[in-house]
Amino acid sequence: MTKFVRFSLDKSTPPTAADRHSGVRYGVLDGETISEVPSLFEFDRGTTHGLTSVRLLPPVSPSKIVCVGRNYADHAKELGNAVPTEPLIFLKPPSSLIAHGDKIIYPPQSTLVSYEAELGVIIGRRARNVRKQDWADYVWGYTCVNDVTARDLQKKDGQWTRGKGFDTFCPVGQWAVPANEVSLNSLRVQAFLDGEKKQDGPVTDMIFDLGDILAYVSHFMTLEPGDLIATGTPPGVGAMEPGSSVRIVIDGVGALENPITSEA
Ligand code: MG
Repeated sequence: MTKFVRFSLDKSTPPTAADRHSGVRYGVLDGETISEVPSLFEFDRGTTHGLTSVRLLPPVSPSKIVCVGRNYADHAKELGNAVPTEPLIFLKPPSSLIAHGDKIIYPPQSTLVSYEAELGVIIGRRARNVRKQDWADYVWGYTCVNDVTARDLQKKDGQWTRGKGFDTFCPVGQWAVPANEVSLNSLRVQAFLDGEKKQDGPVTDMIFDLGDILAYVSHFMTLEPGDLIATGTPPGVGAMEPGSSVRIVIDGVGALENPITSEA
């Protein structure tokens, strides 16, 4: 499995400002060593760095993060929602992105912050009006996403921008894997809170598969290379508290772990 990472040699840069400085590099991770590559889409390896000597960044820098709500029937039911008849799409802002290991900040406006383990799809080339059967031509690869949600604010606001959009509410990574190295239909999406398994659903349980999602979204919005699609969460979502740590695991894709803290 080829593990593509984005990183910086500047370990002092705040996570939410990582895209605003010039030191972003790409690499392939082998064990504890990163070999630099020209971009997420290129495999030619160069200078090496030790994993502990760099600051990992989210593996992609999307122009937008497109999310699918209620895409597993048992998750829709657990929150008392109807199963949708067409994909339910919302956006998270790029300012919500953080990398593996970065802190999820528990916002003072909320008293119910939840994890949502999701398979992340990385777009490989510009996609507009994609036919369902052609979806794979537009996918570069996959990663793990935590669609962190302030559930109380999501309900209170009537729309989801605030509840889904706080800074640090989109952990992604810790690496990205090319699509041709992933056996999509065998994947399971799992979440562990302080080591205890909370979510475990096969991606084949998605109501709308990747063809449905790419066709639906690309018929109203152009997808650009590097854009990220979070494909929905299986049942088992729940509250997490400051001091805890949440780990998203998709065997065959990777793992992503982040601590939760109340400190700003
Ligand atoms: Mg979600």
